Amino acid sequence: AVRVRFAPSPTGMFHVGGARSALFNWAVAKQQGGTFVLRIEDTDASRNQPEWVDGILSAMEALGIRQEDPAFEGPYFQSENAGIQKDAAQRLFAEGKAYYCDCTREALIARTGNQQTGYDGFCRGRGLEYAEGRALRFRTPDEGETQVVDLIRGNPTFPNANLEDFVIARGNGSPVFLLANVVDDIDENITLVMRAEEHLPNTPKQQLLWEALGKTPPQWAHMPVIVNEKRQKLSKRRDKVALEDYLAEGILPDAMVNYLMLLGWAPGNDEEILPFDELVRRFRVEDINSSSAFFDIKKLTAFNGEYIRALSVEDFAAACTPWLQAPAAPWTPEQFDQQVFDAVAPLAHSRVALLSEITDNVDFLFLDAPLVDEDSWNKAMKAGAAELLADVREALAAEESWTAEPLKDIVTVVGEKHGMKLGKAQAPVRVAVTGRRIGLPLFESLEVLGKERTLERVDAALA
Ligand code: GLU
Repeated sequence: AVRVRFAPSPTGMFHVGGARSALFNWAVAKQQGGTFVLRIEDTDASRNQPEWVDGILSAMEALGIRQEDPAFEGPYFQSENAGIQKDAAQRLFAEGKAYYCDCTREALIARTGNQQTGYDGFCRGRGLEYAEGRALRFRTPDEGETQVVDLIRGNPTFPNANLEDFVIARGNGSPVFLLANVVDDIDENITLVMRAEEHLPNTPKQQLLWEALGKTPPQWAHMPVIVNEKRQKLSKRRDKVALEDYLAEGILPDAMVNYLMLLGWAPGNDEEILPFDELVRRFRVEDINSSSAFFDIKKLTAFNGEYIRALSVEDFAAACTPWLQAPAAPWTPEQFDQQVFDAVAPLAHSRVALLSEITDNVDFLFLDAPLVDEDSWNKAMKAGAAELLADVREALAAEESWTAEPLKDIVTVVGEKHGMKLGKAQAPVRVAVTGRRIGLPLFESLEVLGKERTLERVDAALA
Protein backbone atom coordinates (compact mmCIF):
# COMPACT_ATOMS: atom_id res chain seq x y z
CA ALA A 1 0.00 0.00 0.00
CA VAL A 2 1.07 3.54 -0.64
CA ARG A 3 3.18 5.32 1.98
CA VAL A 4 3.26 9.10 1.73
CA ARG A 5 4.80 11.72 3.93
CA PHE A 6 4.56 15.38 4.73
CA ALA A 7 8.00 16.74 5.55
CA PRO A 8 7.84 20.38 6.68
CA SER A 9 10.87 22.34 7.82
CA PRO A 10 10.11 24.25 11.01
CA THR A 11 11.46 27.60 9.84
CA GLY A 12 8.44 29.85 10.26
CA MET A 13 4.73 30.17 10.81
CA PHE A 14 2.87 27.22 9.32
CA HIS A 15 1.92 28.20 5.78
CA VAL A 16 -1.34 27.49 3.92
CA GLY A 17 0.78 25.91 1.17
CA GLY A 18 2.14 23.47 3.72
CA ALA A 19 -1.40 22.75 4.82
CA ARG A 20 -2.37 21.95 1.23
CA SER A 21 0.64 19.58 0.88
CA ALA A 22 -0.26 17.84 4.10
CA LEU A 23 -3.89 17.45 3.06
CA PHE A 24 -3.18 16.09 -0.40
CA ASN A 25 -0.86 13.49 1.10
CA TRP A 26 -3.38 12.68 3.81
CA ALA A 27 -6.11 12.29 1.19
CA VAL A 28 -4.03 9.81 -0.83
CA ALA A 29 -3.29 7.73 2.25
CA LYS A 30 -6.94 7.73 3.33
CA GLN A 31 -8.24 6.86 -0.07
CA GLN A 32 -5.82 4.06 -0.85
CA GLY A 33 -5.73 2.60 2.64
CA GLY A 34 -2.09 3.62 2.85
CA THR A 35 -0.02 5.29 5.50
CA PHE A 36 0.63 8.96 6.14
CA VAL A 37 3.92 9.86 7.77
CA LEU A 38 4.78 13.20 9.34
CA ARG A 39 8.46 14.07 9.34
CA ILE A 40 9.78 17.27 10.81
CA GLU A 41 12.86 18.27 8.79
CA ASP A 42 14.68 19.97 11.60
CA THR A 43 18.30 19.63 10.51
CA ASP A 44 18.99 23.29 9.83
CA ALA A 45 19.56 24.16 13.48
CA SER A 46 20.19 27.84 12.75
CA ARG A 47 16.73 28.33 11.25
CA ASN A 48 14.63 25.93 13.28
CA GLN A 49 12.81 26.90 16.44
CA PRO A 50 10.81 24.76 18.83
CA GLU A 51 7.78 27.06 18.51
CA TRP A 52 7.65 26.43 14.79
CA VAL A 53 7.55 22.70 15.53
CA ASP A 54 4.65 23.32 17.90
CA GLY A 55 3.01 25.36 15.15
CA ILE A 56 3.21 22.39 12.78
CA LEU A 57 1.79 20.02 15.35
CA SER A 58 -1.11 22.28 16.27
CA ALA A 59 -1.86 22.91 12.59
CA MET A 60 -2.01 19.16 12.01
CA GLU A 61 -4.43 18.87 14.87
CA ALA A 62 -6.61 21.71 13.60
CA LEU A 63 -6.76 20.09 10.16
CA GLY A 64 -7.46 16.65 11.62
CA ILE A 65 -4.27 15.11 10.21
CA ARG A 66 -1.98 12.75 12.07
CA GLN A 67 0.63 10.13 11.42
CA GLU A 68 -1.10 6.77 11.23
CA ASP A 69 1.72 4.31 11.07
CA PRO A 70 0.98 1.11 12.98
CA ALA A 71 4.74 0.72 13.44
CA PHE A 72 5.48 4.17 14.89
CA GLU A 73 3.28 6.77 16.40
CA GLY A 74 5.39 9.63 15.13
CA PRO A 75 6.20 12.21 14.13
CA TYR A 76 9.66 11.45 12.85
CA PHE A 77 12.36 14.06 13.34
CA GLN A 78 15.00 14.26 10.64
CA SER A 79 17.69 15.18 13.17
CA GLU A 80 17.22 11.82 14.87
CA ASN A 81 18.32 10.09 11.67
CA ALA A 82 21.68 11.88 11.49
CA GLY A 83 23.50 8.59 12.10
CA ILE A 84 22.05 6.67 9.18
CA GLN A 85 22.35 9.72 6.93
CA LYS A 86 26.11 9.85 7.63
CA ASP A 87 26.36 6.09 7.12
CA ALA A 88 24.74 6.47 3.72
CA ALA A 89 27.22 9.19 2.77
CA GLN A 90 30.09 6.95 3.86
CA ARG A 91 28.73 4.04 1.87
CA LEU A 92 28.50 6.15 -1.28
CA PHE A 93 32.12 7.22 -0.73
CA ALA A 94 33.30 3.67 -0.04
CA GLU A 95 31.63 2.45 -3.22
CA GLY A 96 33.25 5.18 -5.28
CA LYS A 97 29.91 6.86 -5.95
CA ALA A 98 30.98 9.99 -4.14
CA TYR A 99 34.30 11.78 -3.67
CA TYR A 100 35.80 14.46 -1.48
CA CYS A 101 36.43 17.88 -2.88
CA ASP A 102 38.41 20.84 -1.53
CA CYS A 103 37.64 23.32 -4.29
CA THR A 104 36.57 26.77 -3.22
CA ARG A 105 33.96 28.67 -5.17
CA GLU A 106 36.67 31.19 -6.18
CA ALA A 107 38.93 28.45 -7.53
CA LEU A 108 36.05 27.00 -9.55
CA ILE A 109 35.19 30.39 -11.05
CA ALA A 110 38.85 31.06 -11.82
CA ARG A 111 39.09 27.70 -13.63
CA THR A 112 35.91 27.99 -15.64
CA GLY A 113 35.74 31.77 -16.07
CA ASN A 114 32.03 31.50 -15.31
CA GLN A 115 30.28 32.98 -12.29
CA GLN A 116 27.19 30.81 -12.67
CA THR A 117 28.88 27.52 -13.35
CA GLY A 118 27.99 24.24 -11.70
CA TYR A 119 30.83 22.11 -10.35
CA ASP A 120 33.31 21.05 -13.07
CA GLY A 121 34.37 17.70 -11.59
CA PHE A 122 37.91 18.84 -10.83
CA CYS A 123 38.34 16.55 -7.80
CA ARG A 124 36.70 13.51 -9.37
CA GLY A 125 39.94 11.69 -10.03
CA ARG A 126 42.06 13.09 -7.19
CA GLY A 127 41.27 10.35 -4.68
CA LEU A 128 41.05 12.75 -1.73
CA GLU A 129 40.31 11.31 1.69
CA TYR A 130 38.09 13.03 4.21
CA ALA A 131 39.55 16.04 5.96
CA GLU A 132 37.87 18.84 7.82
CA GLY A 133 36.49 21.32 5.30
CA ARG A 134 36.22 18.86 2.39
CA ALA A 135 32.75 18.43 0.95
CA LEU A 136 31.50 15.09 -0.29
CA ARG A 137 30.17 15.21 -3.84
CA PHE A 138 27.99 12.70 -5.62
CA ARG A 139 29.36 11.52 -8.96
CA THR A 140 26.55 12.05 -11.47
CA PRO A 141 26.54 10.14 -14.77
CA ASP A 142 28.02 12.07 -17.71
CA GLU A 143 25.74 10.56 -20.27
CA GLY A 144 22.20 9.40 -20.65
CA GLU A 145 19.24 10.88 -18.89
CA THR A 146 17.27 10.52 -15.71
CA GLN A 147 13.57 10.10 -16.07
CA VAL A 148 11.30 10.42 -13.10
CA VAL A 149 7.75 9.17 -12.75
CA ASP A 150 5.74 12.25 -11.83
CA LEU A 151 2.02 11.60 -11.53
CA ILE A 152 1.16 15.24 -12.17
CA ARG A 153 3.71 16.36 -14.75
CA GLY A 154 4.01 13.45 -17.10
CA ASN A 155 7.42 11.88 -16.72
CA PRO A 156 9.98 14.64 -17.06
CA THR A 157 13.41 13.68 -18.35
CA PHE A 158 16.62 15.37 -17.26
CA PRO A 159 19.85 15.01 -19.29
CA ASN A 160 22.53 13.79 -16.90
CA ALA A 161 25.09 16.07 -18.52
CA ASN A 162 23.20 18.97 -16.93
CA LEU A 163 23.43 17.53 -13.45
CA GLU A 164 26.56 18.68 -11.67
CA ASP A 165 28.37 16.56 -9.11
CA PHE A 166 26.36 17.94 -6.23
CA VAL A 167 27.33 18.10 -2.57
CA ILE A 168 25.80 15.46 -0.29
CA ALA A 169 27.77 16.20 2.90
CA ARG A 170 29.30 19.46 4.05
CA GLY A 171 32.88 20.13 5.08
CA ASN A 172 31.95 19.34 8.69
CA GLY A 173 30.58 15.94 7.66
CA SER A 174 26.90 16.80 8.06
CA PRO A 175 24.59 15.55 5.29
CA VAL A 176 22.79 18.18 3.20
CA PHE A 177 19.05 18.31 2.53
CA LEU A 178 19.21 16.36 -0.75
CA LEU A 179 20.71 13.33 0.93
CA ALA A 180 19.04 13.53 4.35
CA ASN A 181 15.64 13.79 2.68
CA VAL A 182 16.29 10.68 0.55
CA VAL A 183 17.75 8.62 3.39
CA ASP A 184 14.72 9.42 5.52
CA ASP A 185 12.30 8.60 2.73
CA ILE A 186 14.05 5.25 2.29
CA ASP A 187 14.05 4.64 6.03
CA GLU A 188 10.33 5.37 6.23
CA ASN A 189 9.55 3.21 3.18
CA ILE A 190 7.97 6.10 1.28
CA THR A 191 6.51 5.05 -2.06
CA LEU A 192 5.10 8.37 -3.28
CA VAL A 193 6.78 11.72 -2.69
CA MET A 194 4.19 14.42 -3.14
CA ARG A 195 5.62 17.88 -2.55
CA ALA A 196 5.85 21.46 -3.78
CA GLU A 197 6.85 22.16 -7.35
CA GLU A 198 9.90 24.14 -6.23
CA HIS A 199 11.56 20.80 -5.47
CA LEU A 200 11.26 19.46 -9.01
CA PRO A 201 14.86 20.43 -9.92
CA ASN A 202 16.03 18.32 -6.95
CA THR A 203 14.20 15.28 -8.15
CA PRO A 204 16.62 13.83 -10.73
CA LYS A 205 19.47 14.23 -8.24
CA GLN A 206 17.46 12.56 -5.52
CA GLN A 207 16.36 9.77 -7.80
CA LEU A 208 20.04 9.10 -8.60
CA LEU A 209 20.69 8.90 -4.86
CA TRP A 210 17.91 6.36 -4.41
CA GLU A 211 19.43 4.25 -7.15
CA ALA A 212 22.97 4.63 -5.84
CA LEU A 213 21.76 3.47 -2.42
CA GLY A 214 20.34 0.37 -4.10
CA LYS A 215 16.67 1.24 -3.78
CA THR A 216 13.82 1.50 -6.24
CA PRO A 217 12.92 5.19 -6.47
CA PRO A 218 9.45 6.29 -5.42
CA GLN A 219 6.84 7.85 -7.59
CA TRP A 220 6.83 11.63 -7.45
CA ALA A 221 4.13 14.26 -7.68
CA HIS A 222 5.00 17.95 -7.73
CA MET A 223 2.08 20.09 -6.70
CA PRO A 224 1.44 23.43 -8.41
CA VAL A 225 2.62 26.73 -6.99
CA ILE A 226 0.05 28.77 -5.08
CA VAL A 227 -0.26 32.40 -6.22
CA ASN A 228 -1.96 35.60 -5.07
CA GLU A 229 -4.37 37.76 -7.10
CA LYS A 230 -1.41 39.25 -8.98
CA ARG A 231 -0.29 35.75 -9.96
CA GLN A 232 2.77 36.11 -7.72
CA LYS A 233 3.90 33.12 -5.75
CA LEU A 234 2.39 33.36 -2.25
CA SER A 235 5.04 34.68 0.10
CA LYS A 236 5.12 35.40 3.77
CA ARG A 237 6.50 38.89 3.25
CA ARG A 238 3.74 39.93 0.87
CA ASP A 239 0.70 37.81 1.59
CA LYS A 240 -1.26 36.52 4.49
CA VAL A 241 -0.05 32.93 4.54
CA ALA A 242 -0.11 31.68 8.13
CA LEU A 243 -2.80 29.09 8.69
CA GLU A 244 -3.05 30.34 12.27
CA ASP A 245 -4.03 33.83 11.10
CA TYR A 246 -6.93 32.46 9.09
CA LEU A 247 -8.16 30.36 11.99
CA ALA A 248 -7.80 33.35 14.33
CA GLU A 249 -10.06 35.34 12.01
CA GLY A 250 -12.73 32.72 12.32
CA ILE A 251 -12.26 30.53 9.28
CA LEU A 252 -13.61 27.17 10.38
CA PRO A 253 -11.09 24.33 10.02
CA ASP A 254 -13.56 22.33 7.91
CA ALA A 255 -14.01 25.22 5.51
CA MET A 256 -10.25 25.66 5.28
CA VAL A 257 -9.73 21.98 4.58
CA ASN A 258 -12.39 22.00 1.87
CA TYR A 259 -10.93 25.13 0.28
CA LEU A 260 -7.33 23.90 0.38
CA MET A 261 -8.33 20.63 -1.28
CA LEU A 262 -9.40 22.68 -4.29
CA LEU A 263 -6.04 24.41 -4.73
CA GLY A 264 -4.96 22.64 -7.87
CA TRP A 265 -7.59 19.95 -7.88
CA ALA A 266 -11.35 19.78 -8.46
CA PRO A 267 -13.76 17.05 -7.43
CA GLY A 268 -15.68 17.29 -10.72
CA ASN A 269 -19.30 18.07 -11.68
CA ASP A 270 -18.62 21.71 -10.76
CA GLU A 271 -19.11 20.73 -7.16
CA GLU A 272 -16.92 22.45 -4.63
CA ILE A 273 -18.38 22.32 -1.17
CA LEU A 274 -18.29 18.70 -0.16
CA PRO A 275 -17.62 16.75 3.02
CA PHE A 276 -14.00 15.71 3.42
CA ASP A 277 -14.82 12.01 3.04
CA GLU A 278 -16.39 12.72 -0.32
CA LEU A 279 -13.41 14.81 -1.43
CA VAL A 280 -11.16 11.94 -0.43
CA ARG A 281 -13.27 9.45 -2.33
CA ARG A 282 -12.93 11.46 -5.54
CA PHE A 283 -9.31 12.51 -5.11
CA ARG A 284 -6.84 11.40 -7.79
CA VAL A 285 -3.25 12.60 -7.79
CA GLU A 286 -3.30 12.27 -11.58
CA ASP A 287 -6.06 14.88 -11.72
CA ILE A 288 -4.06 17.55 -9.92
CA ASN A 289 -3.47 20.47 -12.23
CA SER A 290 0.10 21.38 -13.08
CA SER A 291 -0.61 25.10 -13.52
CA SER A 292 -0.51 27.49 -10.60
CA ALA A 293 -3.43 27.70 -8.19
CA PHE A 294 -4.93 31.02 -7.09
CA PHE A 295 -5.41 31.43 -3.36
CA ASP A 296 -8.64 33.38 -3.46
CA ILE A 297 -9.37 34.82 -0.03
CA LYS A 298 -12.81 36.04 -1.13
CA LYS A 299 -13.76 32.56 -2.19
CA LEU A 300 -12.40 31.07 1.01
CA THR A 301 -14.47 33.57 3.00
CA ALA A 302 -17.58 32.74 0.99
CA PHE A 303 -16.96 29.03 1.62
CA ASN A 304 -16.65 29.80 5.28
CA GLY A 305 -20.01 31.59 5.27
CA GLU A 306 -21.57 28.46 3.82
CA TYR A 307 -19.91 26.29 6.43
CA ILE A 308 -21.12 28.62 9.17
CA ARG A 309 -24.68 28.45 7.89
CA ALA A 310 -24.50 24.67 7.81
CA LEU A 311 -23.89 24.64 11.58
CA SER A 312 -26.82 24.47 13.96
CA VAL A 313 -27.45 27.76 15.77
CA GLU A 314 -26.18 26.15 18.97
CA ASP A 315 -22.95 25.05 17.33
CA PHE A 316 -22.57 28.45 15.75
CA ALA A 317 -23.02 30.16 19.13
CA ALA A 318 -20.47 27.79 20.67
CA ALA A 319 -18.01 28.39 17.82
CA CYS A 320 -18.27 32.15 18.49
CA THR A 321 -17.13 31.76 22.09
CA PRO A 322 -13.46 32.68 21.56
CA TRP A 323 -14.52 35.97 19.94
CA LEU A 324 -16.93 36.80 22.76
CA GLN A 325 -14.08 37.03 25.22
CA ALA A 326 -11.00 39.16 25.61
CA PRO A 327 -8.88 39.99 23.74
CA ALA A 328 -11.21 39.80 20.73
CA ALA A 329 -14.25 41.34 22.42
CA PRO A 330 -14.41 45.07 23.26
CA TRP A 331 -16.61 44.44 26.31
CA THR A 332 -15.70 43.19 29.77
CA PRO A 333 -16.75 39.76 31.08
CA GLU A 334 -19.18 41.58 33.42
CA GLN A 335 -20.85 43.34 30.52
CA PHE A 336 -21.34 40.15 28.55
CA ASP A 337 -24.63 38.29 28.89
CA GLN A 338 -24.81 34.83 27.36
CA GLN A 339 -28.61 34.81 27.30
CA VAL A 340 -28.70 38.03 25.35
CA PHE A 341 -26.15 36.61 22.95
CA ASP A 342 -28.16 33.42 22.51
CA ALA A 343 -31.21 35.53 21.71
CA VAL A 344 -29.48 37.20 18.74
CA ALA A 345 -27.34 34.26 17.66
CA PRO A 346 -29.97 33.10 15.12
CA LEU A 347 -29.94 36.59 13.55
CA ALA A 348 -26.15 36.71 13.37
CA HIS A 349 -25.88 33.14 12.13
CA SER A 350 -27.17 34.02 8.69
CA ARG A 351 -25.00 37.12 8.36
CA VAL A 352 -21.40 36.46 9.26
CA ALA A 353 -18.85 34.97 6.89
CA LEU A 354 -16.03 35.00 9.46
CA LEU A 355 -16.58 34.22 13.11
CA SER A 356 -14.51 37.28 14.01
CA GLU A 357 -17.26 39.47 12.51
CA ILE A 358 -19.51 38.52 15.41
CA THR A 359 -18.18 41.21 17.76
CA ASP A 360 -19.08 44.12 15.48
CA ASN A 361 -22.55 42.68 15.10
CA VAL A 362 -23.39 42.36 18.77
CA ASP A 363 -21.19 44.86 20.63
CA PHE A 364 -24.08 47.36 20.97
CA LEU A 365 -25.86 44.86 23.20
CA PHE A 366 -23.07 44.66 25.76
CA LEU A 367 -21.37 48.03 25.79
CA ASP A 368 -22.88 50.82 27.88
CA ALA A 369 -22.99 53.06 24.83
CA PRO A 370 -22.66 52.09 21.18
CA LEU A 371 -19.35 52.51 19.38
CA VAL A 372 -20.34 55.14 16.86
CA ASP A 373 -18.94 54.74 13.38
CA GLU A 374 -18.43 58.27 12.12
CA ASP A 375 -19.13 57.54 8.50
CA SER A 376 -22.38 55.78 9.41
CA TRP A 377 -23.38 58.70 11.59
CA ASN A 378 -22.75 61.28 8.87
CA LYS A 379 -24.69 59.31 6.29
CA ALA A 380 -27.66 58.56 8.52
CA MET A 381 -28.02 61.86 10.38
CA LYS A 382 -28.81 64.06 7.39
CA ALA A 383 -31.38 66.84 7.30
CA GLY A 384 -34.67 65.70 8.79
CA ALA A 385 -33.13 62.84 10.75
CA ALA A 386 -33.33 64.58 14.12
CA GLU A 387 -37.00 65.46 13.65
CA LEU A 388 -37.80 61.92 12.64
CA LEU A 389 -35.83 60.51 15.54
CA ALA A 390 -37.65 62.76 18.01
CA ASP A 391 -41.01 61.54 16.76
CA VAL A 392 -39.87 57.92 16.77
CA ARG A 393 -38.69 58.39 20.35
CA GLU A 394 -42.10 59.63 21.44
CA ALA A 395 -43.92 56.75 19.79
CA LEU A 396 -41.51 54.19 21.19
CA ALA A 397 -41.91 55.60 24.68
CA ALA A 398 -45.65 55.10 24.40
CA GLU A 399 -45.36 51.53 23.13
CA GLU A 400 -46.37 48.92 25.68
CA SER A 401 -45.62 45.71 23.80
CA TRP A 402 -41.90 45.76 23.15
CA THR A 403 -41.57 43.24 20.34
CA ALA A 404 -40.17 43.53 16.85
CA GLU A 405 -43.43 43.86 14.98
CA PRO A 406 -45.01 46.87 16.71
CA LEU A 407 -41.60 48.56 16.77
CA LYS A 408 -41.36 48.14 13.04
CA ASP A 409 -44.89 49.56 12.63
CA ILE A 410 -43.87 52.61 14.63
CA VAL A 411 -40.88 53.40 12.45
CA THR A 412 -42.94 52.72 9.33
CA VAL A 413 -45.73 55.07 10.34
CA VAL A 414 -43.47 57.83 11.64
CA GLY A 415 -41.34 57.47 8.54
CA GLU A 416 -44.37 57.95 6.30
CA LYS A 417 -45.26 61.11 8.18
CA HIS A 418 -41.77 62.40 7.35
CA GLY A 419 -41.98 61.27 3.76
CA MET A 420 -39.45 58.47 4.25
CA LYS A 421 -39.69 54.84 3.29
CA LEU A 422 -38.91 52.33 6.02
CA GLY A 423 -35.41 51.65 4.70
CA LYS A 424 -34.50 55.31 5.00
CA ALA A 425 -36.31 55.93 8.27
CA GLN A 426 -34.56 53.01 9.92
CA ALA A 427 -31.08 54.39 9.34
CA PRO A 428 -30.98 57.10 12.02
CA VAL A 429 -32.62 54.77 14.52
CA ARG A 430 -30.09 52.08 13.79
CA VAL A 431 -27.11 54.40 14.07
CA ALA A 432 -28.45 55.94 17.30
CA VAL A 433 -28.87 52.52 18.86
CA THR A 434 -26.07 50.39 17.40
CA GLY A 435 -23.58 52.98 16.16
CA ARG A 436 -23.52 51.50 12.66
CA ARG A 437 -25.53 51.63 9.47
CA ILE A 438 -25.37 47.92 8.84
CA GLY A 439 -26.04 45.16 11.28
CA LEU A 440 -28.49 42.62 12.57
CA PRO A 441 -32.20 43.05 11.73
CA LEU A 442 -33.06 46.27 13.56
CA PHE A 443 -36.37 45.56 15.21
CA GLU A 444 -35.35 42.23 16.63
CA SER A 445 -32.25 43.97 17.93
CA LEU A 446 -34.35 46.64 19.67
CA GLU A 447 -36.50 43.95 21.18
CA VAL A 448 -33.47 42.25 22.69
CA LEU A 449 -31.88 45.52 23.79
CA GLY A 450 -35.05 46.50 25.68
CA LYS A 451 -37.12 49.63 25.91
CA GLU A 452 -35.15 51.51 28.49
CA ARG A 453 -31.76 51.19 26.83
CA THR A 454 -33.21 51.92 23.40
CA LEU A 455 -34.78 55.17 24.58
CA GLU A 456 -31.59 56.16 26.38
CA ARG A 457 -29.61 55.80 23.20
CA VAL A 458 -32.09 57.71 21.07
CA ASP A 459 -31.96 60.48 23.67
CA ALA A 460 -28.19 60.49 23.59
CA ALA A 461 -28.24 60.78 19.80
CA LEU A 462 -30.69 63.68 19.99
CA ALA A 463 -28.74 65.52 22.65
N1 GLU B 1 11.50 20.07 4.11
C1 GLU B 1 11.21 20.26 2.72
C2 GLU B 1 10.36 21.50 2.58
O1 GLU B 1 9.72 21.89 3.54
C3 GLU B 1 10.46 19.06 2.21
C4 GLU B 1 10.81 18.65 0.86
C5 GLU B 1 10.10 17.38 0.49
O2 GLU B 1 8.88 17.29 0.74
O3 GLU B 1 10.75 16.50 -0.03
O4 GLU B 1 10.32 22.09 1.54
